[in-house]
Amino acid sequence: MPNGTGNFDPVAAVEKGAYWQPFTATRVLQANSAPRTLVSAKGAYYQTLDGKKVFDTLSGLWCTPLGHGHPLIAEAVKAQVETLDFAPCFQVTHEGALSLAQRIADMAPEGMNHVFFANSGSEAVDTALKVALGYHRLKGAGNRFRMIGRERGYHGVGFGGMSVGGILSNRKMFAAGMMPGVDHLRHTYEPQHMAFTRGQPTWGAHRVEDLERLVALHDASTIAAVIVEPVQGSTGVIVPPLGYLQRLREICTQHGILLIFDEVITGFGRMGAPFAAQRFGVTPDIITFAKAVTNGVVPMGGVIVTDEIYKTFMMGPKSAIEFCHGYTYSGHPLAAAVGHVVLDVMEGEGLYERVRALEPVLEDAAHSLKGLQNIADIRNIGLTAAVELKPAEAGAGVRGTAVFEEGLRQGLLLRVTGDIISFGPPFISTEQELKDMMLTLRNVIETVG
Ligand code: PMP
Repeated sequence: MPNGTGNFDPVAAVEKGAYWQPFTATRVLQANSAPRTLVSAKGAYYQTLDGKKVFDTLSGLWCTPLGHGHPLIAEAVKAQVETLDFAPCFQVTHEGALSLAQRIADMAPEGMNHVFFANSGSEAVDTALKVALGYHRLKGAGNRFRMIGRERGYHGVGFGGMSVGGILSNRKMFAAGMMPGVDHLRHTYEPQHMAFTRGQPTWGAHRVEDLERLVALHDASTIAAVIVEPVQGSTGVIVPPLGYLQRLREICTQHGILLIFDEVITGFGRMGAPFAAQRFGVTPDIITFAKAVTNGVVPMGGVIVTDEIYKTFMMGPKSAIEFCHGYTYSGHPLAAAVGHVVLDVMEGEGLYERVRALEPVLEDAAHSLKGLQNIADIRNIGLTAAVELKPAEAGAGVRGTAVFEEGLRQGLLLRVTGDIISFGPPFISTEQELKDMMLTLRNVIETVG
């Protein structure tokens, strides 16, 4: 039992407050006499404390594409603990980290052949920003210190990721601690031009010109990198307009600015290709990854860099400064072992192809809700979708919260931020499960009104 006595009472535990819950509003914590506690999971379903089986509409937090309780992962974890449960990766290393890095390099876009491991998306992003600064410094361009993010971007909660991120609520409390020299491109979401678009909108690529304006304002010689999520996930599946990412690549190349794709959500198959870079045909200089690489079972993240970047850091004795960066758990043996299983299953079971086959099913199912009262927008790409509700008269987020609660009652664990419901179901979902998910959502929205 969770507390070792068999008498664990989650309601009392929440009230005592020993556990400070992440990303959970204080008002929810205070009102939380009935905590939403998950007790077990199998395949695409969670079991809640009150005995309900609920469909996992977001693959945990976008991180469990193979579903829960995978027997091969369980076996690999046990075997790895028994063989090599921990190994430092500073100065020494181990086979799992070496071989997983090679496999990730092999599936990455051409010319991106070098992997540095971290343990989360936030760490991956901070690593990427430091790689960008270090690269320019080593190239004799240490005055390139500016970072450019994008409104509505989410890049984790480290000081770097928070600073380049574009979500006010995540920044507000910490305004005093922002990294200097950060600007943001505008986001590309304007519902009057793109509501109810299937796949990529045709409007919005011109907003990439914001980067040219920043170059004109600051001079390119002060700009280190631009970081974007190819598809903005956390702020509700904002799909890149046709041509946007291509143009972003061109402008960065023209001015010697590094382009970072934060693929923490889109990496490892969710776009129907190993990385979104391949899906959209645009190769960045750095890719960040996390989440799905280990199916969420053991934390892992990392960055993949181009040959040019790696070569610059590997100058050997010629280098006056070194990349003094890394984490105790970088390349952890358990994470590496699980990463291998995840890639075995993805490749062995053809899961990228499966995502491509499921994409139109999810698209049709999601867009079938069009016309329902109180829906402001529906959008989708790869195995992601978002249904945006019109805010209730009582205020923003009120309808969303009601939909979340009713969803649990009707068998869906929904990810609702404000009035946006985001979907990233497991790749192992059946076509019927995706259709049922949206049919249930229809009922939920109709019930809530
Ligand atoms: N970048 C992106 C694009 C993400 O979606 C997330 C997490 N949702 C992060 C970074 C941060 O990852 P973590 O929570 O593992 O630090």
